[in-house]
Amino acid sequence: MTASTGPGIGGTSGTGGAATSFVIAIDGPAGTGKSTIARRVAVALGAGYLDTGAMYRIVSLAVLSAGIDPADPTGVAELLPRLTFDTPVDPAEQRHLLAGRDVSDEIRGRDVTLAVTPVSANPAVRAWLLGRQRELAYSGRMVVEGRDIGTVVTPDAPLKIYLTADASERARRRHQQNAVRPGVPVGGGAEAHDNDGTAADLAAVALDLHRRDSHDSTRRHAPLQAAADAVVIDSSELAEPETVERVLTLATERGIR
Ligand code: C5P
Repeated sequence: MTASTGPGIGGTSGTGGAATSFVIAIDGPAGTGKSTIARRVAVALGAGYLDTGAMYRIVSLAVLSAGIDPADPTGVAELLPRLTFDTPVDPAEQRHLLAGRDVSDEIRGRDVTLAVTPVSANPAVRAWLLGRQRELAYSGRMVVEGRDIGTVVTPDAPLKIYLTADASERARRRHQQNAVRPGVPVGGGAEAHDNDGTAADLAAVALDLHRRDSHDSTRRHAPLQAAADAVVIDSSELAEPETVERVLTLATERGIR
């Protein structure tokens, strides 16, 4: 794995603290707009952006491509040493390469979205990705997004956000994303990939989000949960720019800006 560099990587800030001082951890369930918010915050701060969900997705795509059952923990673990992929950290340019091939669209497809649940519950996969995630998270000023960033990946991050929203609102947003860019929602999973904008699709999106979130929240290793010191932002009634502004205000208050 190699990391492409982006703005803020290896940079410093005026606070003079340790490298860990520059991590903003953003966690939360699917469909909250986490990726878009995290990217915008990174752009506003001239920082890097790390999408850890995409790392689990790339591993899942490799598992499927190798014909391995995503639910076979040993088969999946044995594949790990053979994997090579690039993790982009520039918020303006998110191209994911698996063995040199651009798979940015493919990792958002329905098959990967289904496979990522068992693959990310596999402790061998989590342990393997954790080192890489920490290395990138502490490589400079970074906004890091996922499910266990504030609890496991960077528990010492000076700002942890847990972004949430009503289940129906999250389904509505994800459904809308899918309709704008079918199969390639901006920074999200392709629930109900063959979306044609009907009410039935909306119900399918809601079901799939529920499936993913309940697995993510109840799994044994690094479940989705808010860190004890996270600031919970319920974005159900907030427009995206307002949520971004809230995060930036918190960052300023903590001397991250
Ligand atoms: O963020 P995204 O929805 O693309 O993540 C895909 C899946 O990867 C999640 O549903 C979750 O199962 C897994 N994931 C995880 N830990 C993270 C980020 C993502 O388990 N830090």
